[in-house]
Amino acid sequence: MLIVLQSDATPEAIANIEGRIRELGFTPHSIEGAGRTAIGITGNKGPVDPGHFRLLPGVADCIPVTAPYKLVSREVKRDDTVIDVGGVQIGGKPIVVMAGPCSVENENQILTAARGVAEAGASMLRGGAFKPRTSPYEFQGLRFEGLELLAKARAETGLKVITEAKDTATLARVAETSDIVQIGARNMQNFSLLEAVGDLRKPVMLKRGNAATIKELLMAAEYIVSRGNKQVMLCERGIRTIETMTRNTLDLNAIPMLKMRSHLPVIVDPSHGIGIRNAVGPMARAAIAAGADGLIIEVHPDPDRALSDGMQSLTLPGFAQVMKELSAIAAAMGRSIHSLVK
Ligand code: PEP
Ligand code: MN
Repeated sequence: MLIVLQSDATPEAIANIEGRIRELGFTPHSIEGAGRTAIGITGNKGPVDPGHFRLLPGVADCIPVTAPYKLVSREVKRDDTVIDVGGVQIGGKPIVVMAGPCSVENENQILTAARGVAEAGASMLRGGAFKPRTSPYEFQGLRFEGLELLAKARAETGLKVITEAKDTATLARVAETSDIVQIGARNMQNFSLLEAVGDLRKPVMLKRGNAATIKELLMAAEYIVSRGNKQVMLCERGIRTIETMTRNTLDLNAIPMLKMRSHLPVIVDPSHGIGIRNAVGPMARAAIAAGADGLIIEVHPDPDRALSDGMQSLTLPGFAQVMKELSAIAAAMGRSIHSLVK
């Protein structure tokens, strides 16, 4: 249930309503919006009787929430959530591009990639330090050294950093270094990890599992938001289908569906979505045309020698070309590509 507050509700009235919610054994969540302020209720097993609240001072309305993913749903919050990542806003009009290699491999590689993507107009640097790989014999990442190199690249270029937290044991160190904590597709339903990032107060990008439904993605996001971390963005990165010519099938359907059902920003990863270098640009353009708020794209200074995902990584000149095309699509959608250069 959602309790919509009167515009002149006093702090005492709000505290009283929250107290009543707790007395009933439920949890209150404050929901800030441009048009209205509200309190969401979770923890109830069945429907909540609006009679508990309707007559309390400060209450304008009690609205039942039908979606099982409550706090991330548009029913509870009509306005888009905009997440501030050290001054870069995600979820507003400007589209944010995160770019960089699949894995951090060495200092020269990550610094060259960072300089190149910054020059081409990216706002954030991606790069895995802890890599979840299908085979235990493949490159597993530079781990803590990778985090240090990302921090170095940020200091030099001013790019914000996004990197994956693979488990709860290393989460704190990843969260310390990274501006956004990435939860990978393989961990979308790792509930202890979701709970742990839910206890952070730090932006999180949650990737859709490769066999997860849109609803399951929203329910996974609910795990994080229900623990108080409201800074969650959702990432469509391709799902497994009958198609074998491409690595995955980028589910463009998910973009309007997520935007309709949820107020959280939607990021698209065309690199893992299609898995083929020359097809990444067209799918990135399609994602913006379909309403994505951001893109995460793999770019490598020497993709043919990459230690992971070289096949789908753009070269630096290739990325610069894609960025030019993306600006045109963004403008056609009444948006722009966010730029760090003012
Ligand atoms: C990645 O971003 O390099 C990655 C491992 O992605 P995913 O979790 O979507 O497979
Ligand atoms: Mn990758």
